[in-house]
Amino acid sequence: MGDCVFCKIVSKEIPSEFLYEDQICVIFNDINPKAETHLLIVPKKHIPTIIDMEEGDEKIIGHLVSCAKKMGEKLNLPGYTLQINVGEKGGQEVFHVHVHMMANFA
Ligand code: 5GP
Ligand code: ZN
Repeated sequence: MGDCVFCKIVSKEIPSEFLYEDQICVIFNDINPKAETHLLIVPKKHIPTIIDMEEGDEKIIGHLVSCAKKMGEKLNLPGYTLQINVGEKGGQEVFHVHVHMMANFA
């Protein structure tokens, strides 16, 4: 947790521009976007991967999807891809759960 880049972003130890913030999550732009719109929806709680979810964490994960829906409306996106990479074998590089929200692929 101490070395987690997303924990540092959430705690503002690394300054970042949040497109959205509430008690449960923050949303910011991916540093290396793979689409015209590429946001990361990140829970404030450090959950390393979906595999590590504990009782009650489903509310947090559900909240991330609900925030994606709100962000889609705010940005007027007609459609988008939500992606969660799970574990090293699932292409996960940052071990703090996050939802990729991507739209308008180049
Ligand atoms: P993963 O492969 O773990 O699902 O995706 C991690 C994502 O986090 C990648 O798309 C990568 O570009 C992004 N990322 C890694 N480090 C940082 C960072 O310090 N700031 C931001 N904004 N994005 C990051
Ligand atoms: Zn973390």
